[in-house]
Amino acid sequence: MADKVRAFIGLGSNLAMPSQQITQARTAIAATNGIQELAFSSLYKSAPMGPQDQPDYVNAVMAIATDLSPLELLKILQRIEHEHGRVRNGERWGPRTLDLDLLLYGDQQIQVPDLTVPHVGIAEREFVLYPLYEIAPDLTVPGKGSLSDLVANCPLRGLQRLTQS
Ligand code: ATP
Ligand code: CA
Ligand code: CA
Ligand code: CA
Repeated sequence: MADKVRAFIGLGSNLAMPSQQITQARTAIAATNGIQELAFSSLYKSAPMGPQDQPDYVNAVMAIATDLSPLELLKILQRIEHEHGRVRNGERWGPRTLDLDLLLYGDQQIQVPDLTVPHVGIAEREFVLYPLYEIAPDLTVPGKGSLSDLVANCPLRGLQRLTQS
């Protein structure tokens, strides 16, 4: 474990049996060489961001231990999205079978053209903060403060827990 980093991945889906998409993505991520699952949150139901004429989302957060670099991790997540039928049609925040975001990578802050860590929306999004808090209540989000403060300041906006983890 000594040379491994703890990272967090946000999972989302609102098409083609979302709960199943999330569960299958969890399996695919955990099966990847260089990644071990540490924890997985309950599944949550959330209202869509952006365009409202699309189904509700199912979301979850996964904690992993990894010896992959942040960019290697991003590539793997994008490959898994692709394998799970994600089609990029250019509409921002449009419906998708699977969205995998790298939320946190240890305590690192990263800003390169393809990757921003902590993830841009992390401090404001209820469907990220609440599942993250469920599996890592003591976390500090680099540059943003304690997760418990972020959760306390984030309205639920109808977020519902669907299952126990
Ligand atoms: P949002 O990023 O606001 O949640 P989104 O998930 O719908 O929106 P995508 O279309 O999935 O956005 O991704 C757009 C780009 O975001 C990707 O091509 C990727 O390079 C970039 N990106 C930057 N930082 C991250 C990150 N931490 N995790 C995943 N993708 C990231
Ligand atoms: Ca593995
Ligand atoms: Ca996203
Ligand atoms: Ca994404």
